[in-house]
Formats: sequence, structure tokens, C-alpha cells
Amino acid sequence: MKEPPITFKTSLTRALRGYCPACGKGRIVRRFTDLRRDCPECGWLLEREPGAITGAMTIAAILSQFAAVGVMLLCWWLTDWSTPRILLTGLPILAVISYLALAISKRAWIAVEYATDMRTDEADDDYKRRAYRKDA
Ligand SMILES: [Zn+2]
Repeated sequence: MKEPPITFKTSLTRALRGYCPACGKGRIVRRFTDLRRDCPECGWLLEREPGAITGAMTIAAILSQFAAVGVMLLCWWLTDWSTPRILLTGLPILAVISYLALAISKRAWIAVEYATDMRTDEADDDYKRRAYRKDA
């Protein structure tokens, strides 16, 4: 009997918490921003090809740009600091925000890839390929 499909919300929640979007059991995070190549529980392939995580990098860059504008505007509106002082204060804050954005966007991107693969049955093909490799 085929299991009911996993919703995007479920796979996104799993991935954002650091677990496999497919099974929800395997820990997909090696270090904070570093993801494993595949799920240790079900074997779902996270990194399919070089450059597969480019979407996550784009999301992180966009989030970081908005954060940069937000931090600079907040400093400008809420303080009477000079521009160099705003930059010296804002840049370390932005570095932390960018690091967080990268981790979040990588995990979210994995859920997006899982959702789009489910639609095309590409994930099933990955399962078959991995099962074949384990048999060999
Ligand atoms: Zn898994």
C-alpha cells in the first residue's frame, strides 16, 4: 500500500528543523550550514549534482540584501550615529544574519527540491538507484 504524499509544509518543517524532508527521521545537518550528501535513514539524495544548491545561495543572498537594508535603516532612524559607526556596528550583525540565512535557505531549498522531485517521480528514481548501489 502506497503511503499518502507528504505535504510541502511537512517536508519544509522537517528540513528547517534539520531532518530529512522525505522520512523525517534522518538528521541531514552535518554542521550548522553544512548538509549531508544523503539521508542516513532512508538514503534520499540531498546533493544530486554540483551546483544543486544554487537556489539556496540565491535565497540567502536575497535575504541578506533585505537584512542589510533593514539593519542600516534601523541604525539610521533609531540612532544619531555617523555612517562609519553604523557600518562598523551593522557589518558584524549582517555577517551573523547572512550565516543564519544561509543555513535556513539551504534547508528550505532541500524541501523545495524534495517537493519538486515528488511531482516528477525523480525521488523514486533516486531510491531505486541507491537500492541498486547497496545491492551491488
Ligand atoms: Zn530520510
